Amino acid sequence: MRGAARSTARSDVPEVDAFTRPYWEAAAEGRLLLRRCRAEGCGRAHHYPRDFCPYCWSEDVDWEPAAGRGTLYTWSVVHRNDLPPFGDRVPYVAAVVDLAEGPRMMTEIVGCPEADLRIGMPLVVDFRRDGDAGPGGVGSGGAGAGGAGSGDAGPEDAGPGGPRLRNTGPGDAGPGRAGGVVPVFRPAGNSVAG
Ligand SMILES: [Zn+2]
Repeated sequence: MRGAARSTARSDVPEVDAFTRPYWEAAAEGRLLLRRCRAEGCGRAHHYPRDFCPYCWSEDVDWEPAAGRGTLYTWSVVHRNDLPPFGDRVPYVAAVVDLAEGPRMMTEIVGCPEADLRIGMPLVVDFRRDGDAGPGGVGSGGAGAGGAGSGDAGPEDAGPGGPRLRNTGPGDAGPGRAGGVVPVFRPAGNSVAG
């Protein structure tokens, strides 16, 4: 990785395609979106976003605003990550959060000292904007991809790639950079930025 990849290579900013664009546009506006199945007898929400329901395989799924509340399922404090820009940001807390709607989401916890992290603690969504931490200092919705036990939550709700689920290739909507705004979580009731 070193040498072969330019130091400017980014591992944290997902590519946007026609399917995931609404998700990232909402994130840029400070809203977290989920996908919910509309099939009779199912109705489950899922995350990361897919164009079919991962529980019943129905393609009758729609975007839905999430409440933005959740609880901490598990976490890992990352002290080393050679993928830019994470190396400049360690230590950070890669986490899996149980959303109020049910899905389990790979994310990052901000604004909470490591010693205060507790399983089940209430969390609220927040959004990290590109530039908050200066060039190369963006957070990640897929923080676990850097080696924080991303496989722990299973493939259904917390794939290591986050919402970057489809590779549409050239000629589709075309890959593009997300706005650099990624959902993170902070302790509920804590208004201090991380
Ligand atoms: Zn379903």
